[in-house]
Amino acid sequence: MFDYHMHCAYSADSHTPLQDQLAAAQAAGLREICLTDHVDFDDCGMPPADIAARDKELESLRASFPGLTIRRGAEVGMRDEKSAAAAWEYLKDRDLDFIIASVHMVDGIDAYYPEFFEGHTQAENYRRYLAWILQCLPTMGHYCVLGHYDFCCKPAPYENRAMTYSLAPDLFDGIFRELIHSGKGMEINTSAWRDDPCWGLDIYSRYRELGGEFVTVGADAHRPFQVGRRIGEALDLARAAGIPYVATFQAMQPIFHKL
Ligand SMILES: [Zn+2]
Ligand SMILES: [Zn+2]
Repeated sequence: MFDYHMHCAYSADSHTPLQDQLAAAQAAGLREICLTDHVDFDDCGMPPADIAARDKELESLRASFPGLTIRRGAEVGMRDEKSAAAAWEYLKDRDLDFIIASVHMVDGIDAYYPEFFEGHTQAENYRRYLAWILQCLPTMGHYCVLGHYDFCCKPAPYENRAMTYSLAPDLFDGIFRELIHSGKGMEINTSAWRDDPCWGLDIYSRYRELGGEFVTVGADAHRPFQVGRRIGEALDLARAAGIPYVATFQAMQPIFHKL
């Protein structure tokens, strides 16, 4: 069991000490995790995580968690070429294992805030979010997977928050073609699934159909009880979509595990 999307107090939006997230991972029976603290130069207002300090603390803690493989990563918020270059400048000497490329800000508005949803239909809002991903991905040279394609579903004020392929076949296909062409993958992020059934089978099936070979799985935990949440269902979803591998990463290179 892997959890490849996790934050701790080095991220401006988490108060959980690193040690507590590692303890939660061990308690959840995870075999391998990757710390993916926020490094945003996308004008979201959060200072980037001090990755050097985090990794220094991590080295002092590793021995206390035998049996848990702990990789070092970051989640980079996308905006444009300038923000991508600033993030890489910040990260390039950190020798990270893994980088997630994510969209949080859409045209200057945080897709987690109510303002994002005002004045548009659900379909329009979801399409705006996906269109922004498609526009931003080519600006990123250094990343491994696209994070949470369904981030804007998390706070969405709708009865059925699920995102479906039929909502935006053009945008999904564009995103998948860009990822596959660049040798990158999709993440299955379980954090938008609250009390809902998991969603995305139609979406990941299409990713596979276009040639997608692997996913990573992550719960996007900011607090200990979220660590490893619904990862089993994420792996089942990947299998149901026919995706052959779940990947872990070392030094930005994928290691494939047959599903
Ligand atoms: Zn994120
Ligand atoms: Zn995250």
